Amino acid sequence: MGEFELIRRHFQRAGVPAPASMVLGIGDDCALLQPSPGHQIAVSTDMLVEGRHFFPGVDPEALGHKALAVNLSDLAAMGARPLGFTLALALPEADEAWLGAFARGLFALADAHACPLVGGDTTRGPLNICITVMGELRPGQAMRRGAAQAGDDLYLSGRTGEARLALELLRGADWALAALGGDALARHPELRQRLERPTPRNGLGGLLGVLTGAVHAAIDLSDGLAGDLGHILQASAVGAEIALAELPVAPALQRLPEAQRLECLLAGGDDYELLFTAAPIARAAIDAVAQACGTPVTRIGRITQAPGLRVVDASGRPVTFAARGFDHFQGA
Ligand code: ADP
Ligand code: MG
Repeated sequence: MGEFELIRRHFQRAGVPAPASMVLGIGDDCALLQPSPGHQIAVSTDMLVEGRHFFPGVDPEALGHKALAVNLSDLAAMGARPLGFTLALALPEADEAWLGAFARGLFALADAHACPLVGGDTTRGPLNICITVMGELRPGQAMRRGAAQAGDDLYLSGRTGEARLALELLRGADWALAALGGDALARHPELRQRLERPTPRNGLGGLLGVLTGAVHAAIDLSDGLAGDLGHILQASAVGAEIALAELPVAPALQRLPEAQRLECLLAGGDDYELLFTAAPIARAAIDAVAQACGTPVTRIGRITQAPGLRVVDASGRPVTFAARGFDHFQGA
């Protein structure tokens, strides 16, 4: 199977209706996209490297899902509606079964978000998946990291920490196995789901984007709650206080020793939840939006004038935790 046959067989889909915004898809030198009148284009790229972002031999269907999910999550965090994406793929070999499963996972999520694959590049090499996603939004609607204001409420969609716990169980971390048992991943299938098949929050992000004015800053959580919140705090020159008692805790995390539970919750990584700030006047509107898109949203703290992040327990005492966010060029 040659390069063009591979593309035709696995990535060019005949008979699947394309959205009107896709004027020209795979097959020419460029794809052509038509944004809605008066809209801006939002663009984001995320790369997944074998051995770095996923274990060799991971389920290719889940990998197809995750490669697009992490990109859609960036659009969600900006409040942009997906228009389409490109896929740059380096493959060690043209493995039919692998490609079929990868494409299944990829297109199931793409179809669910009406986000067509419009082009890409294919080459032989160590397994590497790079997706660029494009979306649209109205000028002024983007939820930028620098827009948080002192006095804002701080909100989290869903809950954090399960992906990290799954990763630690797969790595065989002693504390995780001791707390949950050797068959933890079998008894808690949701943990692996959260790691390998994250749900990007585009329904929520799109609706929050429409509330700009009241909703200020947003970010999607890829590197851990505390670290990613730090990006908002730095860009906005503000601080924040998180009320630990307000953070939703998954059942499996409740059984961890406190230090590890805090690390999963606050510095877990791979959560792909949205963290956002909004003026207190927007509380009812945010509850309504969360209801409308069926995504749980919790008010977990507030933005403060005083710089830095404080995490406090139910009686207001500061809590310390291992706060290292993930950085590819620091540490191990
Ligand atoms: P070019 O040499 O002009 O860059 P290619 O020969 O690389 O074009 O690709 C041919 C067509 O197939 C282009 O439209 C390109 O966007 C598309 N394509 C290549 N690889 C992929 C892929 N992995 N997924 C989707 N489309 C792809
Ligand atoms: Mg090319």
